[in-house]
Amino acid sequence: MSTHRNPLCRGPYGEDGTRSDGPDCSDPAVFEVTRHHRPALRVCPVHLGPSLLLATAVLWPPEIRLVGRASAPSA
Ligand SMILES: [Zn+2]
Repeated sequence: MSTHRNPLCRGPYGEDGTRSDGPDCSDPAVFEVTRHHRPALRVCPVHLGPSLLLATAVLWPPEIRLVGRASAPSA
């Protein structure tokens, strides 16, 4: 395995440690959703919307940060 720059998507549920197999999604995370008393949830664009509604302890209104680039190749 080579080092990948972006962490993988943890969405849409964002439960840490409940799945030993890892998250269902294997796309690189692009957004980071801030949560109450939990590490920020990193998700891909597809799971950004669902994660806001399904993940635990998401702030409302949502607080989202861009942490990766969806499609732009590194120059
Ligand atoms: Zn995803």
